[in-house]
Amino acid sequence: MERHPPWLLLIGVLAALILLPGPTLRLIFGLAQGLTILLLLLPAVVGVIGWLWWRRLQAQIKQCPNCGAPTMNPTTCPACGYSFVGAAPGSGGVDKTIDVQAETLDD
Ligand SMILES: [Zn+2]
Repeated sequence: MERHPPWLLLIGVLAALILLPGPTLRLIFGLAQGLTILLLLLPAVVGVIGWLWWRRLQAQIKQCPNCGAPTMNPTTCPACGYSFVGAAPGSGGVDKTIDVQAETLDD
């Protein structure tokens, strides 16, 4: 004679664990609540990380003082071959002093 587990009893116990108020139902609602919060917060977290990444990428881009092309190459401009090494940022690589003399104009 073949013995088989009492399926109806097992299904009934599982249904009671899930449907009746108790730790199982609390666990299921807790998981649903956590998943909902995760799904709501995930786009915000991804957006903030993407925004920070974009800002960092933009900070690495500099403009060639010779031709004006934006580049991420730290040593030379890929467009015109201008060397950034030794050139102060924003000065254009040229050290020129401008002499200014003040004059009073008579009308
Ligand atoms: Zn250039």
